[in-house]
Amino acid sequence: MIRKLVVANRGEIALRILRACEELGIATVALHSEADAESLHVRFARESVCIGPPAASRSYLNIHAIISAAEVTGADAVHPGYGFLAESAQFAEVCQSHDLVFVGPDPSMIRLLGDKALARATMVKAGVPVVPGSDGAVADELEGLRVAREIGFPVIVKAAAGGGGKGMRVAASEEDFPRAYATAQAESQAAFGKGELYVERYLARPRHVEMQILGDKHGNILHLGERDCSIQRRHQKLVEESPSPAVSEALRARMGEVAVHAAAAVGYHSAGTVEFLLDEDGRFYFMEMNTRIQVEHPVTEMVTGLDLIKEQLRIAGGERLALRQEDVRLRGHAIECRINAEDTERDFMPAPGKVVALHLPGGPGIRVDSHVYAGYEIPPYYDSMIAKIIAHGADRQEALERMRRALDECVIEGVPSTLPFHARLLRHPRFIAGDVSTRFLEDEDWRTTVA
Ligand code: ADP
Repeated sequence: MIRKLVVANRGEIALRILRACEELGIATVALHSEADAESLHVRFARESVCIGPPAASRSYLNIHAIISAAEVTGADAVHPGYGFLAESAQFAEVCQSHDLVFVGPDPSMIRLLGDKALARATMVKAGVPVVPGSDGAVADELEGLRVAREIGFPVIVKAAAGGGGKGMRVAASEEDFPRAYATAQAESQAAFGKGELYVERYLARPRHVEMQILGDKHGNILHLGERDCSIQRRHQKLVEESPSPAVSEALRARMGEVAVHAAAAVGYHSAGTVEFLLDEDGRFYFMEMNTRIQVEHPVTEMVTGLDLIKEQLRIAGGERLALRQEDVRLRGHAIECRINAEDTERDFMPAPGKVVALHLPGGPGIRVDSHVYAGYEIPPYYDSMIAKIIAHGADRQEALERMRRALDECVIEGVPSTLPFHARLLRHPRFIAGDVSTRFLEDEDWRTTVA
């Protein structure tokens, strides 16, 4: 079992991990940059180490500094959270070679699934349905165009190394293709240092539905139902819910089975997410598998009653899963809104700064995961998240009512936030009806079409 754990992250996810460790009796070490010395995660941890200047490349991404901090403090495990080094196979490898338990899957799995073209090819071999497209990465623009003609336009050109919505371009027609290819490649080079691309058919109005997976190191794998993450802006998730309004019990059973099969096909362990696109006819297609804990994991926790971080820690320590698939029960409905310091009037531009006043919501069915307090200065160097508000209710109707009430209770002064966006969205007739797709925010004006 893990004795002492280094949290190689910051913000709300660092707090979330520290809380799980506290409950399990695991000693904790917080790491922080010079910009985060006053952060709550530093105060919550038993020990803390400053690992470098504000720039992430010199602190939260600095493998050398993180390993040194773990050695100096005598830690035996590292949790990477999400973002930063969470999906770095190299980091996982370096942890292992320093006898540190990496809380996540094996480096080989991170490498395989982190290459989306390779993951796609692996899933095709395992008989998992994928969106029609190229077998793996394409050699060049010409081959990409050939594949695109075969599958038919519109197509989406995607970076094999992609993540966070970067390195993706839609080509509506053959004329668009060269530009889409070149832009996706340039963006991928700049963001990931790699230019490999693959091509898929661009589905018109799919929903993003992902299955949460848990696997131990003894070959047991189960799924914890789905999350619907269709409300997106520029391919980035804003709202997530579980269960999906579009998934019946029968469909859940089928998607779950395919997700477990996909994870088993690569010998997966730890928490993971198998992402699918679900079309209007109820067909679903594998998109990618994420090998980390995700931002939206709390909605799954609310409906299953499980603590996913504790599960990750137990699995990493070598324990067997304590439950079987038939023990997993989904209770009620949960919705999460990501509240960011962004200016909705200026195209959701990040607006870091000092939070002068803050009142976070509470009451029945409300959970808030946040590292922000009144007087806290949101640094400009990292993401602009202020809080995740999660509402749980007996059914979707109650979850919606609780979320609206919670959003109205919440006060954030000093920086603009996405609160007004969420407050409107939660009153939008199509959202209320559960009738959305990943194109919702392109199709609808969230400001004017309010119920
Ligand atoms: P990333 O790893 O950058 O998050 P994903 O492959 O997970 O990229 O895709 C992110 C989002 O992009 C999806 O949730 C969906 O909205 C959109 N998308 C990706 N592939 C397709 C596709 N083939 N057809 C339609 N939309 C897609």
